[in-house]
Parts: sequence; C-alpha cells; structure tokens
Amino acid sequence: NELVFSGVQPTGNLHLGNYLGAIKRFVEMQARDAQCLYCVVDLHAITLWQDPAELKGQIREVTAAFLAAGIDPARSIVFNQSQVPQHAELAWIFNCVARLGWLNRMTQFKDKAGKDRENASVGLYAYPVLMAADILAYRATHVPVGEDQKQHLELTRDIAGKFNNDFSGSIAAHGHGEDFFPITEPLIGGPAARVMSLRDGTKKMSKSDPSDNSRINLTDDADAIAQKVRKAKTDPEPLPSEAAGLSGRPEADNLVGIFAALKDATRDEVLSDYGGAQFSVFKGALVELAVEKLAPLGAEMKRLIADPAHIDAVLADGAARAEAIAAPTLDAVKDIVGFVRKG
Ligand code: ATP
Ligand code: MG
Repeated sequence: NELVFSGVQPTGNLHLGNYLGAIKRFVEMQARDAQCLYCVVDLHAITLWQDPAELKGQIREVTAAFLAAGIDPARSIVFNQSQVPQHAELAWIFNCVARLGWLNRMTQFKDKAGKDRENASVGLYAYPVLMAADILAYRATHVPVGEDQKQHLELTRDIAGKFNNDFSGSIAAHGHGEDFFPITEPLIGGPAARVMSLRDGTKKMSKSDPSDNSRINLTDDADAIAQKVRKAKTDPEPLPSEAAGLSGRPEADNLVGIFAALKDATRDEVLSDYGGAQFSVFKGALVELAVEKLAPLGAEMKRLIADPAHIDAVLADGAARAEAIAAPTLDAVKDIVGFVRKG
C-alpha cells in the first residue's frame, strides 16, 4: 500500500518554488489511491531561531497555502509536527542509528550553517535525522519534494536500511517482515523541481534569501509579481526553439521552467510557442500566466488566515489522525529496540 508524506517549514515567505516544487504536487498526489499526510514541520523551523510572536502565524500561513492550493483536509491528513510527539521520539532513536560520517556530508547543513559553523544549532545538524523520522513514523513509501531534498531522502533510505539490518533478529522475533521500515521512494520531478532565484540563476529560490526580489511570494499581488518578473535577471539572446538550447543559460532555463510548470506543459512545448522571442515578450506572457494562477491562490490564503480558529481545528483533527498511524509504529520500534514497556 502506498503512503505519501511530505512537509513544508513554517519559516515565512512561502514562494513559487515551494508551490511548484512541492505543494502543487502534493495536491496532484491526492488523485492516487494512497493516504497522504502533509505536515507543517515546525520542529524543523526552529533549527534556525524563529520569533515566537510570529511562528504561530507562519504555521497557519503554510496550512492556509495547503488548503488554498487544493489539499482536502478530509481526505489528506494536514497537521503540524509538534502536535505529534512520535516525530521527536523516533528522531532520537534514529540519532543512534545514523552515523556522524553520513551527516557530515549533508550540503544543506553546510549552506545554512555558513562560515560560523561552531555556532550552528545541534538541531540544524541533526535536521535530516528528524526528517527521516517524519517519513518513517508513518512508514511512508512515497515522498514528493523539490530537488534540494534529494540528499536528505537518500539519508532516510540509509537510516531505514541500517535499522532493518541492525535489528533484523528482533524485527523477526516480534513477527514483523524483514523490511520493517520501507525504503522510501523520492518523487522529484516536473519542470520546476528546482526553481532558481530571480536574481541569480545559480541559487535556488528560498524563503530565507534576504532579497524579496529573488522570489515570487504566494501572497504577492499582481503588481509585485509583474515588477519582480520584469526585473528578473536574463541574458541578451532570444529564447531558443528547443529545451536543449537552454543549457548553459540558467536564467532562461529557470523562467521557461516556471512557465512550463504553471501551464502543466514541458519546456519544449513552451519553446514551440516562444522560441525566437525576446525576453520582453516572454516576460509579459509569464506575468499574465503567473498572475492568473497565483492571484486566486493568494486571495484564498488571505481568506483562510483571517479565520485562525478554523485552521487550528484542521490541524488538531489532522494531528489526532496522524498520531493514530504513528503511535503503533513507535510501539513496535520500542519493542524491537528492547525497551521495557508499560503493561
Ligand atoms: P528554507 O530556506 O527555510 O529552507 P525553503 O524555501 O527551502 O525554505 P522548505 O520548507 O525547506 O522551503 O521546503 C519545502 C518544500 O519546498 C520542499 O519539498 C523543498 O524541496 C521545496 N522547495 C524549496 N525550495 C524550492 C525551489 N526553489 N524549487 C523547488 N522546490 C523547492
Ligand atoms: Mg529548505
């Protein structure tokens, strides 16, 4: 049976990359015959300091984006991570399974810790282990994410494999199959698996980029979208007529990829319409398309955020349903590891 899990951090500034690389694809996954769990990962958010006065609003904003995009909270499970204690509990056990050498290779830690690594939080370093726990507490088989999460998902597979192997005797003795934890399938793909900054085609679009012009926020109005797209960095050549002509042109590739993802088309299909066009023309069409798709989403988010009691009720209901799946997994894990249990 398929089980889909993914998460988004409530770190503010939800952007087009989060939408096209993740949230839009979460919605599409609901068409599969699978239970989907979509989590607002607040425990991850605090690996970098968050203002307590703002964090609740950020959690509700991500929830609103999920709902506004079309995630149905009756059918999918929508919740915030800190309401389900099994995530943190399993993360501790996985801290004792994962190896330092594995974590030392994680590039996101190196990027986010920056030069002053001695001063980074222990949580930022252990982040990928918590992410493995998020996924494996539900024994999820499929995880839709943007390309930047590829390395973390490989670590999740390594942790699952090592746990299955280290405890194989006990797993069998407790009557489980040898793959107690599934080897999760990453679902990374589509034309916008890695949306780049509008100011620098070599950096991913990110919530934490200090320049607001680097990203299109999901709550930007039509004027802001138009301004940011018009200012977006490009090169002087007209667009090529095929996707192969985008190689070595990161900014052109990015804008064409965004257009394709918004339109549910491929880069080649977009270029069959716009090959040979100047950027001024293409950017005009991109603004129109982006406003058409994002304006209703942003408006619905604002409507939902205005009713925090409703959002909080969705999260509480989701947390109860999530815990009902995760609790039996944790019970089994504690038996497998050999802890003494309550009678
Ligand atoms: P932060 O800078 O706080 O890490 P973020 O923009 O990377 O923020 P996350 O909450 O870490 O956002 O990621 C949520 C989801 O969005 C993940 O699946 C991630 O892979 C995806 N994602 C993030 N940035 C992009 C991007 N530029 N293009 C495509 N997908 C992205
Ligand atoms: Mg991120």
